[in-house]
Formats: sequence, C-alpha cells, structure tokens
Amino acid sequence: MSAGGVSGQARALKVLAGFLSSNRVPQAILFHGPAGVGKALAAGEFAAALLCEKPPRGGVRGCGACAPCAAFAGGRHPDFIRVDAAYQACLRQEELAKQKSLRIGTVREARRAMETSAILGGRKVAVVEDAEGLEIEAANALLKILEEPPPNAVWILTSSRRDRLPKTVLSRCAAVAFAPLDEETVERILAEQGVGSEDAAAAAKDAGGSAGRALELSRRGYPRALISGAASPAEASESLGPDLPSARTQAELALFALRQELWRSWKEGRTPLAEASRALGVIRELGESLRANVDPKAVVLLACLEARKAAS
Ligand SMILES: [Zn+2]
Repeated sequence: MSAGGVSGQARALKVLAGFLSSNRVPQAILFHGPAGVGKALAAGEFAAALLCEKPPRGGVRGCGACAPCAAFAGGRHPDFIRVDAAYQACLRQEELAKQKSLRIGTVREARRAMETSAILGGRKVAVVEDAEGLEIEAANALLKILEEPPPNAVWILTSSRRDRLPKTVLSRCAAVAFAPLDEETVERILAEQGVGSEDAAAAAKDAGGSAGRALELSRRGYPRALISGAASPAEASESLGPDLPSARTQAELALFALRQELWRSWKEGRTPLAEASRALGVIRELGESLRANVDPKAVVLLACLEARKAAS
C-alpha cells in the first residue's frame, strides 16, 4: 500500500485512512518511528487529505483537483503551517543554519495562526516536524494548545525520538507508529531518486530500514571500503570531508555502518556476542562524543580500530 509517495507504511496509512473515513480525526496526532521512513511525507499527504474538499475514500491524500488541493500543492494553502526550522528562520529573519531548536515564540506564533478562522472554510492543520527539537518552554506552550485546541484545528507532530518528548505532550496525542522499511522498499525509493541499482542495493543493506539514511549514504560517499577492510582505519579517518559539518555527517554514517556490520557479523557467527557487544558499546559512546564536538577523524579512527579488534 502506498499513498502519494509514502511507501512501506501500510499499517500507519491504514490507521490514518481510518481516521479520515470515520470522520473522527484526533486533534493531536504523533507520527513516531525511525528517522527517514516517511513520517514527514505522510504528514504532508495526511494534511492534504484533511484540507481537501473531497478526499478519495480509503486513501490518505487529497483529490488533487479542488481549490484547497491546488493551493496546498502550490505551497500556499492559507490554513496550513509546517512548523520547522525554515518556518522559524523566516519568523526570526535569521539564517536557516542558526535554527538548532524550536523556540517558544515560534510555537506561540503558530498558535496565533491556528486560532484564526479557516480562510478556505475547512480545517486548519499544523505539522510540527521533529518535535523532539522543541525547547522545554516551547513544548509546554504546545501542551497548552493541545489541551484546548479550537474545534477545526489538527496538530500533527512527527518524531524519531519519542522518548525525548514530555510525557504530558505524549498523553495528548494519538500515536501512529511508522516502522523501519524493508530493504526492497529502500532500494526502490533510492532508484526513484536516481541512484544506480548497485549503489542503491549497497546503501539499502546498511541503512537499517531508513530511506533517508540510505540516501545520505549513497550521496555522501559511502564508507564501504572502511567496512570491507579495503581501507585501513587511518585511511578511513583521513578520507573524511575537509569541513567540520560534512566530516561529522560522514563520521555519523561511518559509525552507523560499522554498527550494522558488527550486528551482521554476530548474526552470521563471525564475531562472538561478547566481542560484538563490547565493540558496539564503545562505538555508541564514540557517537555521543561526536555529538559533544570531539574531532570526527579521531572518532572514526577509534571506531574502526574497535570494529577490527572485535572481528579479529
Ligand atoms: Zn482536493
């Protein structure tokens, strides 16, 4: 089952289609699940269906023909807001790169917009992407909104870190779970994005069910030589990009790929459980230190050495 580009999420789409066809749409819904599996895409499709005058029954999308659908497709529906870093950058008239978290002022502004009556006469819909990025004051402001939303307002939150959302916010939301994608689906999504079949298959294998991560892997140069042992740990570390942001992203991908390879190696009986879990623990800690600004080259070097030690 797929709807408007959302693939491999039959269960989640069925729940959403059920909300639409029964006309019982919760006013606060949380799409949760791993990063890069289609939550934001599904939130857009669901929002389009909520705003459409005659959404096709049984699906999760707009009709594509009515005035609200045309406005939505053109990115100019007056009753829809996507509350994300770009929205905040626009409100604050700041650079996009500066928006590290969603602030209380951003949530309040979205609230004001959501409290006005619908310009096209239907619902008003807000999508809060990566809601774990809300600062605590912003999350509390959102909670107040979710406690008493105006009757025609629907708030859709997406998160790949549900554990980082306040329980009070979680308790207000109807949760819809998004699952990791199977490899075949990830490969197909990559092919649709123009990735060659060999690269798509390699990236899908190591992406842990995340099409977003697989795309990153294939676009940024995948550290396959690092895993296969063709590159030494020092070479792998030196091959990281020259600027810090890209080196950090590549290092994150390298750590993820090393963890996947350790899992595979344990499952296939090539590495004993104790060795694999010790190395996985060290690599996880290295991931934390990467987020705490430790040099990505040092992190990759140490992680590669750990993985080699476990495999030997
Ligand atoms: Zn429509």
